Amino acid sequence: MAETILITGANRGIGLELARSFTALGWQVLACCRDLQQATELRQMADGRPEVELLHLDVAASDQIVAVAGHLAGRPIDILFHNAGLFGSRDQAFGNTDPEQWLEVFRVNVIAPQKLTESLVENVACSGRKIVAIMGSQLGCIGDNSSGTWPIYRTSKAAAHMLMRTMAFDLKARGITVVAFHPGWVRTRMGGAEAPLEPAAAAAGLTRQLLGLSPADTGSLIHMDGRRLGW
Ligand code: NDP
Repeated sequence: MAETILITGANRGIGLELARSFTALGWQVLACCRDLQQATELRQMADGRPEVELLHLDVAASDQIVAVAGHLAGRPIDILFHNAGLFGSRDQAFGNTDPEQWLEVFRVNVIAPQKLTESLVENVACSGRKIVAIMGSQLGCIGDNSSGTWPIYRTSKAAAHMLMRTMAFDLKARGITVVAFHPGWVRTRMGGAEAPLEPAAAAAGLTRQLLGLSPADTGSLIHMDGRRLGW
């Protein structure tokens, strides 16, 4: 039986390319996005491919998490990939930070991966690979911060790394491997036009890393090129 990956924010950017990558490998892909009407590229990709299932999921909406978990009850999920992310406004200069925006970014980047994993943990636990992956970012690495700026995004990704590490211990007894990734600086709506890396190249690197994971990797922050990153 084909293995299964669930990807949040699969309608564009890195998430869409991850969905393409695992589809090409013959996996069952549960591609989640919050607005299926707008997800033209994803719908085109899924057209005529029963192995790609589109699911409506705003990761910040707890009722939608409950609905998706109900729909997927009893189905193994080999890789649960929390890709959906928010940056917040481009102007996060000191003196110009909006608390409501900060909370929204935390809701998507930090709280959602916890709540969605809590709702789908049985699906992951009954799968072959038993992997939970959270998209982190080098901008969330405290020791790497030598320039300041973007406090909203940076703190959310530092928290996402801590969440991953905590979850790695919380789920160890169930044999679940939990990791976080830095995908590189990627040319997406979030990464911007200056970014050197194509989304497909980032997705290819992430796919390679995901397929090579073992339980000994749990708790690691991993660059898409395979390097283990410090906090
Ligand atoms: P994009 O901005 O291109 O894509 C972000 C995705 O997240 C979109 O699919 C978006 O959906 C989705 N999303 C945002 N909020 C929600 C929500 N509430 N519910 C469901 N989906 C949501 O960014 P990237 O592809 O570049 O980023 C993907 C991940 O990689 C993010 O977590 C990001 O932080 C991380 N990352 C990216 C880097 C880069 O250089 N690009 C570097 C380091 C990390 P919608 O279209 O509906 O808005």
